[in-house]
Amino acid sequence: MSAQEPVSAHPSDDVDATGGATAVADDPHAGQKGVVDPATGQTIAWVDDLGPEAAATAAVRGRAVQPAWEALGFAGRARVMKRAQKWVTANADELVRTIVSETGKAWEDAMMAEVLYAAAAFGHWADHAEDLLAEEKIKISSPLLKGKKVITRYAPVGLVGVIAPWNYPFTNGFGDCIPALMAGNSVLLKPAEKTPLTSLLLAKALKDCGMPDGVMQVLTGKGSVLGDAIIDQVDMIMFTGSTEVGRHIGARAGERLIPCSLELGGKDAFIVCADADLERAANQALFYGMFNTGQTCVSVERVYVEAPVYDEFVAKVTKKARALRNDQPTGPGSTDVGALTVESQFGIVNDHVEDARTKGAQIVAGGDPDPDRPGYWYPPTVMTGVDHSMTCMTEETFGPTLPIMKVADVEEAIRMANDSPYGLMASVFTKDMAKGEQIARRIEAGLVHVNDSLVGYAAIEAPMGGWKDSGLGARHGAVGIRKYTNSQTLVLSRWHIKKEPQVYPYTGRGFKLLRGVTRFFYGRGTRD
Ligand code: NAP
Ligand code: MG
Repeated sequence: MSAQEPVSAHPSDDVDATGGATAVADDPHAGQKGVVDPATGQTIAWVDDLGPEAAATAAVRGRAVQPAWEALGFAGRARVMKRAQKWVTANADELVRTIVSETGKAWEDAMMAEVLYAAAAFGHWADHAEDLLAEEKIKISSPLLKGKKVITRYAPVGLVGVIAPWNYPFTNGFGDCIPALMAGNSVLLKPAEKTPLTSLLLAKALKDCGMPDGVMQVLTGKGSVLGDAIIDQVDMIMFTGSTEVGRHIGARAGERLIPCSLELGGKDAFIVCADADLERAANQALFYGMFNTGQTCVSVERVYVEAPVYDEFVAKVTKKARALRNDQPTGPGSTDVGALTVESQFGIVNDHVEDARTKGAQIVAGGDPDPDRPGYWYPPTVMTGVDHSMTCMTEETFGPTLPIMKVADVEEAIRMANDSPYGLMASVFTKDMAKGEQIARRIEAGLVHVNDSLVGYAAIEAPMGGWKDSGLGARHGAVGIRKYTNSQTLVLSRWHIKKEPQVYPYTGRGFKLLRGVTRFFYGRGTRD
């Protein structure tokens, strides 16, 4: 099946999902919404367009089955995840085809950032959830607790909501469900309206791998309709998407006093020092600027190059960018840069390029989209002579563009990199590792590379989250699973006396004793 043909249909009652995909038919699809292949503009499947009541029903179902799922224990849950890992590796092509059909991305983009990630994530959380959520016996220093045992444990919150964007239908949606499930929760996942098929396919696969009914439910529909309905039902909300919607999610979660984790937009900077390996820097800037058609939260969105090597760097990037293919993603090796996933991205990308052009930037590659091409396409575009008066340097473009700015020195590069409301990812290129690390530590971002870019996202063992307007909390690392739990501290007093000296009545003796204890424990070494 090619990417243009209809995606395999899963009748609703076959999928452990409240929404289900059904094959394209000529008749109108009442209560359903078409899924478009962005590379062709063709409708390839239909899925349920659910209303708020579906979230309430799904929540009741999810809560009913959660205790049994939790009772399975880590080993029982890990068995399901390990089977899912096998399913992903055995069905990699089907998964890629589904992802490509609803996103328009290149097959290689889907393989590297989604299927490889999926295989790693199912295995990682299956293998490490138990350790990361292990009970800890805590050594306590307070004199009030001498002789008592203190234990901290992590209990699943119960029902987790995951609201996902369209740019990585697996990695930024289903991927966040895996640690939530391994922690013992039930999950309601709302994929982006434009890209529901990958989530439906995976929900079916998980069911085939032994996931009990109702533990992992996919709700397809519009965020503006379903989003609040999900937040209002769950015990914790994990959101990935735009900063604008993220603020709304945070406010709504605040009203309900439930925890939220927000992975939001970015405007990631890429600094090229005069002593960098320019060939590698040019390859990395171009690849991670155009990867996934530039629609990655941790995409290279702006490049700063020290003046002495600016011309040489620009020449290298321009030559490589002009050689990129921007063709139909029909299979491995069929294109370098795929389509834009949603139509609305075209206007944003075009506006940023035209704003730069009007303000004096040079468009040295791309920049002239074909208005008659079916689907949503914008050619890989490189802009030079840009500055911070242009939207391409200050607002998230989320498209196949690479604006390159000349800076006088490293200090200016750092100042410019930090001149942004966002703080997600950054890259520094220099042959001097000590200098590179010093620069990296001065960048206000949650993930910074020296002589690399973007790939740090794959460090699933380390936390990845945005600073400033790029988010709240993190995915991956210990925090990436503990956020789906409530911590509970147990204080266990086995040995005790009937009446401790600090309790009523206050005679003054308890006060003196506490003063003595305070001096004894904390008063030493503070004479000067
Ligand atoms: P979006 O418009 O914010 O949508 C994200 C999700 O929120 C979708 O499922 C959407 O549903 C839903 N939604 C929309 N309005 C809502 C509302 N009022 N209440 C609740 N949910 C609502 O983002 P996007 O355009 O899909 O994704 C692109 C953005 O995501 C970029 O800014 C990108 O940087 C960011 N992103 C960040 C990360 C990260 O890890 N930091 C990763 C990937 C993407 P509909 O699809 O139905 O509109
Ligand atoms: Mg880009």
